[in-house]
Amino acid sequence: MKTAEIIAIGSELLTPTRTDTNSLWLTEKLNEIGIEVMLKTIVGDDKSRLEETIRDAVKRSDIVISTGGLGPTEDDITRTISAKAIDRELAYHVEIEADLRERFKRWGRDMPETNKRQAYVIEGAQILPNPNGSAVGMSVEIGEKFFVILPGPPRENQPMFLDFVLPKLRESAGEIFVKRKILRVSGIGESAVDEAIAPIYKSYQTVDTSILFNKSEIEIHLTAKADTEENAAEILEELAEKIVEKLGIAVFATNGELMEEIVGEMLKSSGKTLSIAESCTGGLISQRLTDISGSSAYFIESAITYANEAKIKTLNVAPKIIETYGAVSKEVAEAMAKGIREKSGTDYAISITGIAGPTGGTEEKPVGLIFVGYADENQVKSFKIILPGDRFLIRWRASQAGLDYLRRQILKQQNLQTGASNQR
Ligand code: AMP
Ligand code: MG
Repeated sequence: MKTAEIIAIGSELLTPTRTDTNSLWLTEKLNEIGIEVMLKTIVGDDKSRLEETIRDAVKRSDIVISTGGLGPTEDDITRTISAKAIDRELAYHVEIEADLRERFKRWGRDMPETNKRQAYVIEGAQILPNPNGSAVGMSVEIGEKFFVILPGPPRENQPMFLDFVLPKLRESAGEIFVKRKILRVSGIGESAVDEAIAPIYKSYQTVDTSILFNKSEIEIHLTAKADTEENAAEILEELAEKIVEKLGIAVFATNGELMEEIVGEMLKSSGKTLSIAESCTGGLISQRLTDISGSSAYFIESAITYANEAKIKTLNVAPKIIETYGAVSKEVAEAMAKGIREKSGTDYAISITGIAGPTGGTEEKPVGLIFVGYADENQVKSFKIILPGDRFLIRWRASQAGLDYLRRQILKQQNLQTGASNQR
């Protein structure tokens, strides 16, 4: 398998305000043809550092791609330094100069003499035309290796890469197809997930598996490489199925979907409706649900009842319950869910009450303590969870816990209805 590395050139990319996005885009394209990016470097417009970087890169990688520094000004050093680093000369191309002059003429301007710099190309390099800018790119073969030099602006280097570089790399990489799948898991920790599924994924040598922790969930990234697209897809499906079988109901998405999409789809397909009563999440659950287009089919109403009076007035929570158990309690969460459901006439309702912090926690009720309430036509219930994190994360995780609780209740009901014995 061929290895690649990317060099992003430009001092602006070392400032706090600019990001190297070229390498992300290039990595995606390279991965699609089975080429793995092993290293990325960002180097400023500094001659000695750039030369050293290119020399090292060409030594260790099969494919080296640089972007940036091909402009006509003094700080655009890629052309000369690249030639030096691979011990080749630059050759002047009159046809490039003629083309540049023609280009400037079309814009109604005379070509500044400095632009002549852009007519120099590394000896033996293939010239990569640039319909969208003045800097041509270069592709140099060094033995079995490729060194590709692209301009910085994405609108210039992307078409150039797709039209002139990708087909050549594909040819040399052989026919390899890469497919990806993301499974999302809630309610189990990272190491527990790994422990459960490592014996499964380790037996798939052509699939790369990585387990990542997101804000509120575990993501399992599967990348399969195969000789045909169908084979790659098939092997991914097979592995994903085994993982789902092992982890059961904890897997909420098998194609990278968001929790709010999954819950929305479940409500939509069953023709059920939902209302929500939120306290410490301040509307976050409702926002996430309504971020999904088509949510009006199932999302009916939401109340943000932050103060006790609001819970009493809007949700009919009995003052006595709040007095006796406190606003952050199982009893209040259940009364909130029941209250909003009765008010809105929905099939389901969920509620959240908790302590997002950083202030307001006590020994008995610490920061991160969350109660999620649930109501449907037959039952009212709740669960308690203590979430780690700062205010932002606690609120986000609480919103996820609320949606996940609803998802699990709906699944349970569906399994009961279909008589499925496996409730996972
Ligand atoms: P240059 O070819 O160095 O003159 O770069 C011209 C412009 O391309 C820069 O001002 C950026 O807007 C853009 N650019 C250069 N390098 C990158 C990169 N690695 N990622 C995204 N944009 C870039
Ligand atoms: Mg630059």
